[in-house]
Amino acid sequence: MALYFSYNQKTYSKLQFNKQLERVKSLGFKGLFFPVANANTIGHSTKERKRLPFWNMIAQAKSAGLKTGIKLQCFQNRVLYQNDSFIPPMNYLGVTYVPKSDYYPVCPNNPDGLKTFYNIIDLIANNTFLDFIYLEHFRFPFYWEREELDIQNRIPPFCYCPFCVTEFSSVVGEIISTGEQIQSMMPEWLEWRTEVMFSLLLYIQEKVTHNIQIIVALPPLSLIDLPFTTGQLPQGLIEEGCFLSPQLHHKVKAKNLAWIEDLLDQYQLDLRTHRLFPSFEYGNAKEFEYLAKLEKKYSGIIFCPLPDAM
Ligand SMILES: [Zn+2]
Repeated sequence: MALYFSYNQKTYSKLQFNKQLERVKSLGFKGLFFPVANANTIGHSTKERKRLPFWNMIAQAKSAGLKTGIKLQCFQNRVLYQNDSFIPPMNYLGVTYVPKSDYYPVCPNNPDGLKTFYNIIDLIANNTFLDFIYLEHFRFPFYWEREELDIQNRIPPFCYCPFCVTEFSSVVGEIISTGEQIQSMMPEWLEWRTEVMFSLLLYIQEKVTHNIQIIVALPPLSLIDLPFTTGQLPQGLIEEGCFLSPQLHHKVKAKNLAWIEDLLDQYQLDLRTHRLFPSFEYGNAKEFEYLAKLEKKYSGIIFCPLPDAM
């Protein structure tokens, strides 16, 4: 039952940041979420540290009396695509993903992606300044911002890369080499995918030694479509103590505000939980006021300002 602000500035000055923190507080926000794309963002590279001193900003927000969280881009990584040896996610026909805009999905079974993921979790897990870790792109690839789910599809769009197929083969104890084989074992395949995501969650939970809340971002799909499309099992994530954050970004999806409320009502009805922490966009004060009124129904709301909103 609190409002949070998604902070996305490209430059930093202590004085200016202090002013922004005061403004954020005066608007009624209880905390800030900072985006983290990769380990460089949080200070492994000197250049980055100078440009945006991430941990200083967290400490500064903390001493201003705000709660802090980071938004981690788990399996989305533009930098990895620059390595010639990187294998992007593959579809059922073995065709690799070719990014057409700013979405660079990484398969949660890809060793390069996993290395990056483990590395960043190890870096942040014991930071006592953090109240939240927000897991963005913590799923199998699905470009929800631009693509619609084809409900005629009987198999998930991604991923069928060699790492997925090998891993699945070892789990079922049978060499799987064709798409037809996977199709004939679809219930097992879907279950295995959700287990892949749970084992990654377990890794985070084991690393986090103090009281950081974990929030898992969900594409704005109906609950029934989520495990199939992304490998995310909402009820199971709640049982593991996570908060769920449907990303109800209505501008991106060209929807109205009623769409947000309808989807949230469905989630609440089906999951019977208060552990919802939705993420909204807002473009102006009117939208913000309207959406902020939903505050009392949920554990928290994250507001992502569109350009010029604040
Ligand atoms: Zn894969």
